[in-house]
Amino acid sequence: MLDTAFFHRWLTTAAAAISREAARLTDLDSAIGDADHGSNMQRGFTAVTEALEKEPPGPPGAVLILAGRQLISKVGGASGPLYGTLLRRAGKALGDAEQVTVRQLADALRTGVDAVAQLGGAAPGDKTMLDALFPALDALATDGGSFAAASEAADKGALATVPMLARKGRASYLGERSIGHQDPGATSSALLFAALAEVASS
Ligand code: ADP
Ligand code: MG
Repeated sequence: MLDTAFFHRWLTTAAAAISREAARLTDLDSAIGDADHGSNMQRGFTAVTEALEKEPPGPPGAVLILAGRQLISKVGGASGPLYGTLLRRAGKALGDAEQVTVRQLADALRTGVDAVAQLGGAAPGDKTMLDALFPALDALATDGGSFAAASEAADKGALATVPMLARKGRASYLGERSIGHQDPGATSSALLFAALAEVASS
């Protein structure tokens, strides 16, 4: 079972990973965007960890809703509302349960990612964060709920964005010139799943 402490550790571990990789995320975004994905994500996840320190710990769903709200209000780029929606919708799906199963988290994340697809109007293959998120969720569903398998699938999904033509977001303005670069948002999504796998294995 996954409790509130697990969700805290996931988000703080994710924040640390994003800080560590911020320069790389910004480099990727400078190739096919506006060079702010690292700083956007860092600002958002710093706000998440600060909010978690201040607020009394609620159930897992409340932790995700709190984090999502921070991302939506603190990040100016497209990724803030998208990741914020993911976490908020996943948190809502978890409801008030004090502990949740891996399956419940997987289902909640699916609800959140579906909401991201709806909000951004993107589909798999459009060279966005969805190209890491959907494979991760599929691996989580088929491999009997292994976060390690989900993390590996997210990494592969992020790598698979390199030859894709961007159809959504700023990268789509580049048309054919978006080909040959890894999508920054798919890369940060892989970091979020790597953090989940790290926390689950510790
Ligand atoms: P911005 O593009 O506003 O500068 P960021 O640089 O923080 O925002 O985030 C860019 C990332 O957001 C992209 O790499 C992509 O993965 C994701 N993204 C952009 N638009 C969409 C969309 N419509 N649907 C899903 N993901 C998107
Ligand atoms: Mg950007």
